[in-house]
Amino acid sequence: MAPPKPTREPEIKFTQIFINNEFCDSVSGKVFPTINPCTGDKISDVQEGDKADVDKAVKAAKAAVKRGSPWRRMDASKRGKLLSKFAELLERDKDYLASLETIDNGKPYTDSVDDIHASSDVMRYYAGWADKNSGKTIPSDGDLFTFTRHEPIGVCGQIIPWNYPVMMMAWKLGPALACGNSVVLKPAEQTPLSALYCASLLKEAGFPAGVVNIVPGYGPTAGAAIAEHMQVDKVAFTGSTEVGKLVMQAAGRSNLKRVSLELGGKSPLIIFADSDIDAAVYWAHAGIMNNHGQNCCAGSRTLVEESIYDEFVEKSKQMAEFRSVGDPFEESTQQGPQVDEEQFNKILSYVEAGKVEGAKLEFGGERHGDKGYFVKPTVFSNVTNEMRIAREEIFGPVQTIIKFKDLDDAIGKANSTPYGLAAGVITKDINKAMMFAQNVDAGSVWINCYDMITPQTPFGGFKQSGQGRELGEYALKEYTEVKTVTMMIPEKNS
Ligand code: ADP
Repeated sequence: MAPPKPTREPEIKFTQIFINNEFCDSVSGKVFPTINPCTGDKISDVQEGDKADVDKAVKAAKAAVKRGSPWRRMDASKRGKLLSKFAELLERDKDYLASLETIDNGKPYTDSVDDIHASSDVMRYYAGWADKNSGKTIPSDGDLFTFTRHEPIGVCGQIIPWNYPVMMMAWKLGPALACGNSVVLKPAEQTPLSALYCASLLKEAGFPAGVVNIVPGYGPTAGAAIAEHMQVDKVAFTGSTEVGKLVMQAAGRSNLKRVSLELGGKSPLIIFADSDIDAAVYWAHAGIMNNHGQNCCAGSRTLVEESIYDEFVEKSKQMAEFRSVGDPFEESTQQGPQVDEEQFNKILSYVEAGKVEGAKLEFGGERHGDKGYFVKPTVFSNVTNEMRIAREEIFGPVQTIIKFKDLDDAIGKANSTPYGLAAGVITKDINKAMMFAQNVDAGSVWINCYDMITPQTPFGGFKQSGQGRELGEYALKEYTEVKTVTMMIPEKNS
């Protein structure tokens, strides 16, 4: 297979709102800039959707799922074929799409290519599910025959973040479309470009008009309009816990639309003294530094058994020093810029908070280079679970290393957080690993690895990390209404 070819200045083909399989300008005529985080320069203006555009998109989506519509009448297996076709088109255009993702988001080009492959895999996975979302026959009491139908919910609003733009879109579109729903999706304002290009691919794949509508715009306007909308039957959101609560409130205030939320985390990775220390240092480093720390399930608290603590800190510091930060189009680059100035400033303010609260800055903690939003990989030791850098989501390349005494102490510290998205444990002792896995409050637990997410494995949070699950068979439930059909069987009475 030919190696992927990056394009440093990909042509920006689509910047308009996508409704009913057509690109259009915003009702207000407003646009917003999307910025290249390597330089801080504008890449392009994008049409700014708000309530009026969301109304138009919802109208189109409603018509697309109404009784008798081509989408509603389409065989489930044909829906699967369209999803497979979309997966194929993602692969076909991966060089261009990955280039677009990298200039808009800042992540290394090789990571963007991986994201496109992973997104295509997710679409193929759900293509397979399209005609397998079966109901049951139920042995009901009495002279009755009962079965269940798994029906689409209707119009699904989907609000996605900027950290994995194409992948988050795939996680949401895959199950929604496999189950026969229609969608109004809002990409994050920082990274609208790849979603708009994907809109053109969805049309090319053959999805009927109105099945997927994409409205770029800001959260408090376009996002809130989706969450509040009386004709949106379900809202799926990935982003901060703070905004997740607003989305849930909006659903309650409006039409009690179904809600699924994938929110923040402060996920612990536990390193026992019996582990291979170099492997453990690697997993802990990758667990927090991947995607520049902009990962909801980042291993943002590294908990290390006290007898190996000092050695672990020293080796972690060395790994951070060796991490290559810079031009995301260079093949050797592991870390590009943070997504925008706001995130950049937020991360540096957490570094200050860590220093003030008495953590020891081992490496980094400052800007890398002289332009764009690059932050040096940062390592803090002497962190306690009570410090802000160990409690709040930094969403940056900041490793906080905390000491623990034994398994009980590790579990206690791991669970001492309002979040519960993910956790990891590195040990050669299977009993410790399983005790930890059973007792930690987390939606995903990784043993002797970290951040291993596949299309088949459900992902989502305990506690304030969310509601519901994405990926795997479990996600189908989030996009299905169960209808119970019960029929009297007269012969049994006679
Ligand atoms: P982050 O803090 O990581 O940028 P947010 O939770 O603010 O994450 O944003 C995630 C997504 O939610 C984005 O698409 C954003 O535009 C959207 N969003 C932000 N505020 C709201 C809101 N009040 N209602 C609905 N969506 C919102």
